[in-house]
Amino acid sequence: MNTYQDTYKHRGLRNGLVAKLKIKGITNTLVLDAIGKIERHFFLPSEFEMHAYEDKAFPIGEGQTISQPYTVAYQTQLLKLEPNDKILEIGTGSGYQTAVLNFCNVIVYSIERHEALSKKAAYILNKLACKKVKLAVGDGTKGWLTNAPYNKIIVTAGAPSIPKILINQLVEGGILVIPVGNENIQKMVRITKLANNELKTEIFEDFSFVPLLGENGWKGK
Ligand code: SAM
Repeated sequence: MNTYQDTYKHRGLRNGLVAKLKIKGITNTLVLDAIGKIERHFFLPSEFEMHAYEDKAFPIGEGQTISQPYTVAYQTQLLKLEPNDKILEIGTGSGYQTAVLNFCNVIVYSIERHEALSKKAAYILNKLACKKVKLAVGDGTKGWLTNAPYNKIIVTAGAPSIPKILINQLVEGGILVIPVGNENIQKMVRITKLANNELKTEIFEDFSFVPLLGENGWKGK
C-alpha cells in the first residue's frame, strides 16, 4: 500500500531526476521546479515506489502507463505556458502530468477514457491540493466543448493524425502539442493557431506513447 509519505530519500532522488532532465536539455525552470517538488511516487503502484524517480514510464493499470518524466517535461515545455492559461489535457492517466500543469499556475481540464484511472488520479490530485484541476471521463479526441476555447491543448497518447476538432477548440494564438505517427513511434508536433485560422506546424523528437483511442483517434479497439 502506498503510504503517501515524502521522505528525505524521495526528495534526494527527485533532485537527481531534475539534474538528469537538465542534462537532457530541459531548460524551463518552472517545469524543472514542478518535477523537483511533485511526489511522483504517489502516482505509481507501491511496488514501483523506489523506482519513481528513474526517467522511465511505468504501468498504472488498465494497460496504460505514467509517462516518462522527460516526456512530461518536454511536452510541458513546448506548451509555452502563461499564468492562468486554460489547458485541456487529453489522457489524464495517473494524473502526474496534470499535477505538473497545476504547479505551473494554469487552469487544467483533463479527460481520461478509463474511469478507474480518472478516479485514482482524482484521489491523489486532491491529496496534493491541486485546486485548479477539473477531471472528466470520456473520449478526449472530441475535446471538451463545454469549457472551450483553450489557450493550450496537450495530448498524452499517440494519435494517427491531428483531430481538427481540437484545433477548433483553441483560441487564436493557442497551441496544441500532440504526438503523431503509427502505433509504435510518433513525432512530437506543435501546432500554433494563427490569425485567419492559419496553422504553424513544428515537428520535434520521436516518442513512443500508448495509442489515442476514440472517434478521432485509433479506432476498433
Ligand atoms: N500524462 C499521463 C501520465 O503521466 O500518467 C499519461 C498517461 S498515458 C501515456 C495516456 C493516457 O491516455 C492513458 O491513460 C489512456 O487511457 C488515455 N487515452 C487514450 N485515448 C484517450 C481518449 N480518446 N480520451 C481520453 N484519454 C485517452
